[in-house]
Amino acid sequence: HAKIRGRGQTQFFDSSMTRDLVRRREIEDELRAALQRDELSIFFQPIVDLETGRIRTFEALVRWFHPVKGELRPDEFIPVAEETGVIVTLGNWITAQAARVAATWPEDVTLAVNLSPLQIRAPGAALGIRNALKEAGLDPHRLELEVTESLFIEDNHATANFIQELTDIGVKFALDDFGTGYSSLGYINKYPFTKIKVDRSFVSGANVGRKSDAIIRAVAEMGSTLEMEIVAEGLETIDQVQTVRQAGCTLGQGFYFSRAVPDYLAAMLLAQESDGEPMKITG
Ligand code: C2E
Ligand code: MG
Ligand code: MG
Ligand code: MG
Repeated sequence: HAKIRGRGQTQFFDSSMTRDLVRRREIEDELRAALQRDELSIFFQPIVDLETGRIRTFEALVRWFHPVKGELRPDEFIPVAEETGVIVTLGNWITAQAARVAATWPEDVTLAVNLSPLQIRAPGAALGIRNALKEAGLDPHRLELEVTESLFIEDNHATANFIQELTDIGVKFALDDFGTGYSSLGYINKYPFTKIKVDRSFVSGANVGRKSDAIIRAVAEMGSTLEMEIVAEGLETIDQVQTVRQAGCTLGQGFYFSRAVPDYLAAMLLAQESDGEPMKITG
């Protein structure tokens, strides 16, 4: 690009812009290399049935173990992956990898994968998911895609087509982090979500109280009327589990049950369960 731009034009970039570009370019290169070097891995966090304590789903959460910087959180590098477009390659890799692991679980355990808006709008996005499922031998009914409301800020045909095409083959959609974005009921009306995940800020944190309880209750009520499951995110204590159960949430996720763990530990949690030890849902 530098050649095409020519000499005189570099002056249009001030130094902070250049630095920012360099930084992003660096992370972009590192991310691509990380994929090659096996520095990325997928962890799995159980989503638990609040009636039975059984694991119904594992959510795939990406982890980056950088040789120098240590463990990087997805909140740090997913945005960069989005800005630079690396998210498409990364996302396809995550789905393929997670689907392979999910194919080893009992048939009634499903896989949830997070998708960012850019990934969904990229050409061939639905095909990428279908290929991942096919290669892994995972039934589309066992895949659930988690999207956030930010997807709908730029609501367009690509988004609608993506959701339609995959819904047609049995893939399910969950609305993630509900309550933190626009929380427009229009999206819930327009798209075939089977699940709503109430953001953890309603469950744990500084402002949790009667008001957030009432909100969870209202969302749970809507869920049961519209036949959608309501997941409470961020459950860290048994008290929170009891509270959201009483509020009508059907599923729960959080450190109280388990953190996101590597595939072999996810398998161990399933083995424990089949040995007759479901997760503890009462105090
Ligand atoms: P998310 O999809 O809402 O995922 C839930 C996040 O909450 C995870 O953080 C999880 O570790 C954390 N969490 C779960 N239970 C608890 C709890 O009880 N207490 C607390 N404090 N935290 C809890 P994580 O893995 O750092 O991921 C952060 C976000 O990064 C995710 O939010 C998701 O938006 C994004 N992300 C993660 N993996 C992927 C991926 O593979 N693809 C894409 N596009 N985004 C991803
Ligand atoms: Mg999620
Ligand atoms: Mg979430
Ligand atoms: Mg989140």
